[in-house]
Amino acid sequence: MFDLDDKYVALAATARDLADSLAEYADEADGMLRVHPKMRAGLQESGLAAHCVPAEGGEAIDPLAIAVVREALMGVSAHLDGLFGMQGVGSFALARAGSPRLRKEWLPEVASLEAIAALALTEPEAGSDLKAISTTVTPRGSDLVVNGNKSFITNAGEAAFYTVLCREGDGYSLIFVPASTPGVSVEVGPHLIAPHIMGAVRLDEVVVPADHRIGEPGEGFKLVLATLATFRVSVAGAAVGLAQTALDEAVRHTSGRQQFGRPLAETGPIPHLLGLSWTEIESARALTYRAAHRAGRDPLATLDLSSMAKVAATETAGRVVDRAVQVMGRFGLVTGSTIERLYRNARPMRIYEGGNEVLTGQLARRLVRLTERQH
Ligand SMILES: Cc1cc2nc3c(=O)[nH]c(=O)nc-3n(C[C@H](O)[C@H](O)[C@H](O)COP(=O)(O)OP(=O)(O)OC[C@H]3O[C@@H](n4cnc5c(N)ncnc54)[C@H](O)[C@@H]3O)c2cc1C
Repeated sequence: MFDLDDKYVALAATARDLADSLAEYADEADGMLRVHPKMRAGLQESGLAAHCVPAEGGEAIDPLAIAVVREALMGVSAHLDGLFGMQGVGSFALARAGSPRLRKEWLPEVASLEAIAALALTEPEAGSDLKAISTTVTPRGSDLVVNGNKSFITNAGEAAFYTVLCREGDGYSLIFVPASTPGVSVEVGPHLIAPHIMGAVRLDEVVVPADHRIGEPGEGFKLVLATLATFRVSVAGAAVGLAQTALDEAVRHTSGRQQFGRPLAETGPIPHLLGLSWTEIESARALTYRAAHRAGRDPLATLDLSSMAKVAATETAGRVVDRAVQVMGRFGLVTGSTIERLYRNARPMRIYEGGNEVLTGQLARRLVRLTERQH
């Protein structure tokens, strides 16, 4: 697959129209630790979130559609992109393996953004090494009791439910915890350099019915992996969108500004930097579309390709936005400017949904095994 089919081109155009219609709120929303009401309403009206959330018993979700939408949204607003993407990340396990009762009750709410979703894996002492979590779930009669602390959870405080990774005996399980359950409390923050709706979630003797376990006992990691296999490549889509906007800003500025009697875009190393950024973005975009297209057929079998796309696109975004700041000189440093927002928002993407070094380490181990098998 080299070019997008017409249906993805049309989807990208719809997402771009939505993003453009909300662009005036981008600055305000990125500074908020709450869901921006206009962004939420716009996304609701567009119906786009349904691409992230399979209808109950409906068709499988399409990672390429999600990547294309995130590319368009992230190019304008990280807040809007996060709002869209997290509906899928937070509800995927529920859609895949939740009880029929919970799926029926919650999935339409998630697709329509009536209910905001969250996935709670990380803990103060467990980031990349998720097997080190200490949150537990324990059966008690016909109920389940959850105890623990989660941190850096996107949408904490705004979410209607948390999909919580817990230890259960010798294994790990995912538990569906409505935010209104007694014993659930949220401390908003910390404030990041790239503002994010985020908080710590405390689960203190939280009691939920047994059908709130998603899947079988011990299936937690399998479901987390299935979630990441489907959504990791969409981070690549978002990173490509951010990089493209940064390059557009750099081109706009350097074409319009004259120094030494000619446009900066034609001066010294600046044409090289612009051309290099364009080349890197197109490479990352091609890999992202290919990985997302393949993930649509078998996400787990193409996890390596999705990881490569995530690493390539987020590293590209980092380089492109840094170059954009450089070629814009002092104007690239002004707080409140588009480029400043992009510069900050590019940074977390190399850390979340699999730290890039963790992913390249996994890829290297797989490469060595594959090479050994060939000899
Ligand atoms: C904006 C944002 C939103 C987030 N949202 C959520 C959320 O909604 N839900 C949730 O559960 N979590 C969330 N997180 C947490 C995120 O998943 C973790 O930050 C991530 O898993 C990395 O863990 P850590 O930050 O503890 O880094 P650490 O695990 O401490 O790693 C630090 C650095 O070392 C590298 N590293 C770690 N282990 C290895 C290794 N074995 N080999 C090579 N390098 C390694 C990492 O790549 C990283 O660069 C979010 C984080 C951010 C920044």
